[in-house]
Amino acid sequence: MMLSKAAISLLTSGPVCKVLQPLRKNVVPVFLLHRFADESRGIKGHSQAHLEAALTYLKRNDYTVVSVRQVVEALISGDALPPKAVAFTLDDGFYDQAKTALPVFESYQAPVTLFLATDMQDHRYWSWDYKLEYAFKHTRHQSLELDLGNGATYVAFANSEDKRNLVRTLRNHHKRVPNEVAEAAIESFSKRLEVDLPKAAPDEYQPISWEQARSLESRFIEFGPHTQRHPILAQVSDEEAKKEIIGSWNALQTNMANPVPVFCYPSGREGIDFGVREQEIVKQAGLIGALSADPGYVRLKEANNNLYALKRFSFPDDMAHFKQYCSWLEYAKERMSRR
Ligand SMILES: [Zn+2]
Repeated sequence: MMLSKAAISLLTSGPVCKVLQPLRKNVVPVFLLHRFADESRGIKGHSQAHLEAALTYLKRNDYTVVSVRQVVEALISGDALPPKAVAFTLDDGFYDQAKTALPVFESYQAPVTLFLATDMQDHRYWSWDYKLEYAFKHTRHQSLELDLGNGATYVAFANSEDKRNLVRTLRNHHKRVPNEVAEAAIESFSKRLEVDLPKAAPDEYQPISWEQARSLESRFIEFGPHTQRHPILAQVSDEEAKKEIIGSWNALQTNMANPVPVFCYPSGREGIDFGVREQEIVKQAGLIGALSADPGYVRLKEANNNLYALKRFSFPDDMAHFKQYCSWLEYAKERMSRR
């Protein structure tokens, strides 16, 4: 059931929420934010104005923004959170996120957790999925011979929309093959597209430095581990999975004053991008919880909650859907579809 924006607006209005909001008092939406738009550097993403509108909406409607640390601690202790709790996370640790989003969270005194792929900070590393995007963005070629398992075909990409769609397809395909195969494939694409891949992340993939992260760490802004090199964990060996998870947590502990002991899986689809093996490693590393990217609420009063695969919603870029996820409405929809 898809609701129109007008219907959402009515159903999330003050008088309706007054009656129905208690329905979702035992669940918390945790939002996952990606990159922030920075036109001068050619970066597409969320807009700062929309984030401000979202936080203003929460403030005016008596929502409380809590941190991921508080959510996981409440799950463990059983203590209550404020009845209209909402949480925010930012994945990866790019400079645009620090520059554009963090000042907004700070000025609204709204907690947010940034998850860092720590080789970005340590070596200005950039992962194959970003190299893939870069190669297609910067090539002068308009077609490429591709074989994704159904025989070789020529694929044309005349405009930036075609390119974006193709990059999405290629990214999804390569998330399901061993990490070194994906890395080699992206190297081969870039050669055939005649794009040089810089060794260190170029400007549009600039990560925040450890120094910047330390200066940003505050009562409201916290940092947590998100692997070292941002691979799909299900596609690396046992040894590498351990190194990625434990290594990133160690880097956070070395560099930050008060890192959040909650892990965040790259790409984050349970059963596809990570599984039982990864959850075990995270647990053994002494981390108290972990976040997936599967859509859904965190349930506070559930008996067998899996602390190592907590769900998140992608931050919607329109207010209607943001209101829907914050309010009782999405929860009611979720419950109805479970029946
Ligand atoms: Zn990520």
